[in-house]
Amino acid sequence: MHELAIAQSIVDVVETRATECNAARVKSVRLQIGEASGVVADSLSFCFEMLTSFDPVLAGAQLSIDVMPHRARCRHCATEFAITDFVARCPTCDEWTNEILSGTELQILDMEFDAS
Ligand SMILES: [Zn+2]
Repeated sequence: MHELAIAQSIVDVVETRATECNAARVKSVRLQIGEASGVVADSLSFCFEMLTSFDPVLAGAQLSIDVMPHRARCRHCATEFAITDFVARCPTCDEWTNEILSGTELQILDMEFDAS
């Protein structure tokens, strides 16, 4: 369950930022997670809640997750298509050479604090 380790890293980043900003409370944290990042959003939410529930600054912070679809663009014919089950084959020309457009993200997009 590597979501726990990822959630811990996110909590660490948010905590550091909250301290820098003299925040009394963290209201919300917004993440962007790619379909192909290997992170299960529900599991990550659960771990985040568990890690923050006893923290005076982070308790009750709302975690929202934008899941990015796994998409690619064919280098041969420039068709953009959805990758299903990690099969990145162009539906138009059957080529395998492509450029990944989205789906591997794992980042904090935004966080909202209440000032102290
Ligand atoms: Zn193509």
